[in-house]
Amino acid sequence: MPARYDVDRDALEALLDDQPAYRVRQVWDGLYKRLLEPAQMTELPKSLRDRLSSELQSTLDLVTERTSDGGETVKFLWRLHDDRTIETVLMAYRDRVTVCVSSQAGCAMGCGFCATGQAGFERHLTTGEIVEQVVRSSVRAKDANRRVSNIVLMGMGEPLANYDNTWAAVERMHDDLGLSARHITVSTIGIVPGIRRLAGERLPVNLAVSLHAANDDLRDELVPINKRYPLTALSAACRDYLTAKKRRLSFEWALIDGVNDGRRDAAELAAYARPLRAHVNLIPLNPTPGWPTRGTPAAGVRAFRDRLTELGINVTVRRTRGSDIDAACGQLRETHVTLTN
Ligand code: SAH
Ligand code: SF4
Repeated sequence: MPARYDVDRDALEALLDDQPAYRVRQVWDGLYKRLLEPAQMTELPKSLRDRLSSELQSTLDLVTERTSDGGETVKFLWRLHDDRTIETVLMAYRDRVTVCVSSQAGCAMGCGFCATGQAGFERHLTTGEIVEQVVRSSVRAKDANRRVSNIVLMGMGEPLANYDNTWAAVERMHDDLGLSARHITVSTIGIVPGIRRLAGERLPVNLAVSLHAANDDLRDELVPINKRYPLTALSAACRDYLTAKKRRLSFEWALIDGVNDGRRDAAELAAYARPLRAHVNLIPLNPTPGWPTRGTPAAGVRAFRDRLTELGINVTVRRTRGSDIDAACGQLRETHVTLTN
């Protein structure tokens, strides 16, 4: 049975070939503009609604939903048809509403500090499974009279290791859900061929690279894929992305106590980021059961930030959201430790 958001327009046309032509638009708008379940599309005859309910099944079965930050952050845990579980986080801010989306169940990249990496790879998500996370979050936002404005592919998984499905989902978010490409961010651990492919796409999305170390010895340790795509190759791909897309590049840096939070680390990061005019996002490491090193304490985070500023780097300390429900982006599902900041 085709999944609800895996069906493209041609497939929907085929599914509705016994119906008047305008039904295709009605159903498509129902799914993407009005965010309705087939059963809620009351302009359709009851028999068609029933048929679509069984032929366009939802792929995300809600297991739990937890809220924090006074209701501003909602974490969804979904069960997929094969009993895999994934998470999505909805974060409402004053000026925007962001959804943090998963691209894979598990992840094969094996970064030791990451809860998803520790769990290993399970499978790629389909385009429909990625898109439906946005749709379901948007319905939740709508219930609170808010509208999802930003998407970050920073949930479980490595989006550029599931390139085709992720990119088709990005196009669907843009073309059908009406999200601006400038408000969609793909976060990658640094898959160089994937970054190069992104540079050739029609939509100029934001690129975030999870750097964490700016010398190859340390980065090889923290981020094993660095051995395949070392820092020089990574910066060349980033530069080509910037040239092609004119989008802001950002580097994510999880501050790990005594590991990558010293003056020398700041100097290396600044030297790496400056020529790319990259913006740096700092986030204190969230300790995970499989890697109990702690995050840099608040004073160290401030010192690192100030050092980068002195070195001419644009830097922000990422406000962690949903820490009491284990919902910091990239910290999903497996985490049982809470973050204090
Ligand atoms: N695979 C992609 C996207 C998902 S991870 C990537 O790595 O970019 C989303 C972000 O959370 C990444 O920046 C990742 O490095 C970060 N992250 C993973 N584990 C973390 C932890 N324990 N504490 C803080 N940030 C973490
Ligand atoms: Fe995968 Fe990103 Fe976690 Fe590394 S940090 S294991 S790439 S999800």
